[in-house]
Amino acid sequence: MTKTTLIKNADWTVAWDTTRGDHCYLRGADVAFANGKISFVGTGYRGEADEIIDGRRICVMPGLVNIHSHPYSEPLSKGFSEDGGNPRMGLSGLYDFMPAYGPDEVGRLACAEVAYAELLRSGVTTLVDISSPYPGWLDLIAKSGLRGILAPGFRSARWYTENGREVRYEWSADGGAGAMERALELVDRALNHPSGRLSAMIMPAQVDTCTPELLRSAKNAAEERSIALQIHAAQSIVEFNEMARRHGMTPLQWLDGLGILGPNSIVSHAIFLDSHSWIRWGTRKDLDVLARTGTTVAHCPTVFVRHGMLLEHFNCYREAGVNLGVGTDTFPHNMLEEMRMVALLGRAASRQLEIVATGDVFHAATVGGARALGRDDIGRLVPGAKADLVLIDLDEPAMKPVRDPLRSLIHSAAERAVKDVYVDGVKVVADGRVLSLDYEGAAERLTAAAAKAEAAVPALDWGKRTGRELSPLSLPLQ
Ligand SMILES: [Zn+2]
Repeated sequence: MTKTTLIKNADWTVAWDTTRGDHCYLRGADVAFANGKISFVGTGYRGEADEIIDGRRICVMPGLVNIHSHPYSEPLSKGFSEDGGNPRMGLSGLYDFMPAYGPDEVGRLACAEVAYAELLRSGVTTLVDISSPYPGWLDLIAKSGLRGILAPGFRSARWYTENGREVRYEWSADGGAGAMERALELVDRALNHPSGRLSAMIMPAQVDTCTPELLRSAKNAAEERSIALQIHAAQSIVEFNEMARRHGMTPLQWLDGLGILGPNSIVSHAIFLDSHSWIRWGTRKDLDVLARTGTTVAHCPTVFVRHGMLLEHFNCYREAGVNLGVGTDTFPHNMLEEMRMVALLGRAASRQLEIVATGDVFHAATVGGARALGRDDIGRLVPGAKADLVLIDLDEPAMKPVRDPLRSLIHSAAERAVKDVYVDGVKVVADGRVLSLDYEGAAERLTAAAAKAEAAVPALDWGKRTGRELSPLSLPLQ
């Protein structure tokens, strides 16, 4: 039997204007959904309803689409990596922090459960989860209630350093073919998952760790399945220089030459283009390459600004015609705070009188991400779209005064005002509490995993440093 839920007379609704192809506000509108799909958005709903939610003091908005995250590892780094980054390696933390500090298999499940819960609480309904395959992953993301897009990573080489200033690559004998096969097995399981809520993406991990052969077969695997491909590229100075040394080309021009870019491709994070102020290179083509090929950029400013790096800059990419989506590459797994960072850092990075508009950030975090995933049925409130929606509590003091609910939400209240979240018409967050996961229990298990990881640092670090030496506390302990 079809059950129709009606949100009646919502104070504010972020609806989809099909004519303009963008979001708009409605006042006093009704939103109805049934069978996991939105059936009505507008004023004066006259159909039947089995459940009626009073929409007064509520803002209804589409669920957020997060196109880049690493839930299986990133929550662990809280307290460890905020002040990190190696100044002898372009300030990046990728080469000596990441390899020395990570969760074991039990810890990965705790990390993922914490990240999923936090993301749901911040209004995320669709999540691209980029992880190394681990036992229990598929079951946990299915249980979370998220619209999960599994992106199991694979590559031909791992990076390492022996001295904290030079990155080296250890290439596997099969060029990564075995790792890709294992990833594809998981991809196909996700695509055929009985929930119908899971999907997948092809994820050759990084531009500098994959052979051209592996990248070409990754692209073929994506095309055969009509799914997207994502790759980290132009994410550090070290990587830019490495690709320039190997090929005499920028990372993005090299990927373009291989045919990897396109409307179904996402580049995370595309910061170090040939036009970036830290790069000295003879061309100014990278932005055009992204725009011409219709490639999406997964923009995750928090983790980069922690290490002093900025994308230059949001409006510049947007005006060049580059599709931008938003992701939470690391903690806090708070999409609304990440969106605030997109707005503010975009303004700071422009070094001009340019304001990144809140509406443009919201667009990127909803339909920008949806476009990258080849979907027009998420990230917007319109009849026929998936019933992935978020109810914002306008009585939350941090939202007041409610002159403009998205501005109050993104620039002030964030997840404190997120009341209820629905995915596929199923309520997964009620009054700010995640119904599908054990957030508090997982946070406890995360604490145990962090202690284990800290103890293992000297065995993994190139300089045999302790965790406290690699990442000193923010104040001396007396
Ligand atoms: Zn990443």
